[in-house]
Amino acid sequence: MKLSPSSLKTCSRCKDAPAVVIREHSGEAVCKGCFKKEIERRVRRTVKRFNMLTSQDKVAMAVSGGKDSIMLLAVLEKLYHNLFEHHDRQGRPPIIITIDEGIQHYRDESLTMARKACERAGFEHVVFSFEKDFGINLDGMIKKASELLEKESHRKYLKDTMLKNAEKLIYKPCSICGVLRRKLLDDIAQSMGATVLATGHNLNDEVETFLMNMMRGDTKRIQRASAVRSGRGSPFIRKVKPLQDIMQRDIVLYLYHTGEEFQAISCPYSRNTSIMRGEMNDIIARLENAHPGTSFNLKKCMAFVYDSIDKGYDAGISRVSIESTCPGCTGPKSIGTSICMACYYCKVLAGQDYARMLRSFVSRIQ
Ligand code: SF4
Ligand code: ZN
Repeated sequence: MKLSPSSLKTCSRCKDAPAVVIREHSGEAVCKGCFKKEIERRVRRTVKRFNMLTSQDKVAMAVSGGKDSIMLLAVLEKLYHNLFEHHDRQGRPPIIITIDEGIQHYRDESLTMARKACERAGFEHVVFSFEKDFGINLDGMIKKASELLEKESHRKYLKDTMLKNAEKLIYKPCSICGVLRRKLLDDIAQSMGATVLATGHNLNDEVETFLMNMMRGDTKRIQRASAVRSGRGSPFIRKVKPLQDIMQRDIVLYLYHTGEEFQAISCPYSRNTSIMRGEMNDIIARLENAHPGTSFNLKKCMAFVYDSIDKGYDAGISRVSIESTCPGCTGPKSIGTSICMACYYCKVLAGQDYARMLRSFVSRIQ
C-alpha cells in the first residue's frame, strides 16, 4: 500500500530515502529502493531454492504482456543478465513465447507490450497466433463450440471419446483458451530446445489453486501440482514459477516503481472464468487486509503439503498414475479419455491435427 503524502517518513530500512510503501506483514515503511531490493531478493531466493535456472539451461519465458509476465521478464533479465549472456554465448539464447488467441479489443494491446518488453531485453520473440496458425481465433472457436453443442451427433461423439458430462465445462472460453495455451507453451518451448519454461504465476495464483483443490477434494490435482513443482515425474518440460512468493499487489507496485508498461485491463472473458477462483481471490484479499501475512502463511502450509508428498515418494511410495499418453500428440492425457483436450479442441474447433499443425509452426519459425 502507498503512503499518503502527509504520512511521508523516512525508510525504516535504509534510514535515508522517503518511505513510499508500507509492508503490512512487517509493519515497516520502506522506500522505493528498499522495496525493489526486497522483491528482487525474494525472487532470487525462490530461484535458488528450486534450482530453477542453471548454466546448462535454455530458458523459455511465457509472456502475454500482462503484469505478471512483464514483471517476470523484467526481474529475471535484471537479476540473471549474466547467466542469459552465458546461455547466449553457448548458443542457447533465451526465448520469449506469446500466444495470441485473437481476443478482440484485448490481445492486441498486450501483444504490443510483450513485443516492446522483448525488444528492450533483446530476446527472441516467438508469437503463436490462433488466427494464423489454427486458422480460427478464440472468438471463432467459441462460436463454433456453441454450434456443436446443438448437434446430437456431436454429443454422441463426446460420449464416445469419454468426454461426456463435460460438454458445458469444456466449451467455456477459459477452458479452450487455457488448455490450448498451456499445451502450446509447453510444446513450442520444448520443440525449440528449451529445457525450462518460466511462467509468471504469483503467490495469489498458487494459494488460490491450492485452496480450490482442497475444497473440491481434488487430491489428484494436488499431487500433480506437487509433481510440477518438484519436476518429479512430470511429463511436461520443467516448469518454474520465479514469482510464486510475490503477492499480486507487490507485482503492480514493483512495475509502478520501475516504470514498466503492462496491460492493465482484464480479458473480456475473465468474468466467465471459474466462479470459485474469483471467490477464492476475494476471500484471500479480505483475509490479507484483515490479517496481514495470511497469504504467506497459506503458502507456507501449501509448501509443507507438497514437501510431504515429495518425502513420501522419496520413501518409496509409488505415484498414483493420473495420466496416460495421447495417441494424437504423444503428450499426456487424462486416464479414461481417448485423446487429450488440446487434440480434441484442435480437431473439432479448428479442423486440424494438433501434432501436424505444431510441426508446421515450428518448422516455419526455426
Ligand atoms: Fe483466456 Fe480466459 Fe484468460 Fe481470457 S481470461 S486470456 S479467455 S484464460
Ligand atoms: Zn493430444
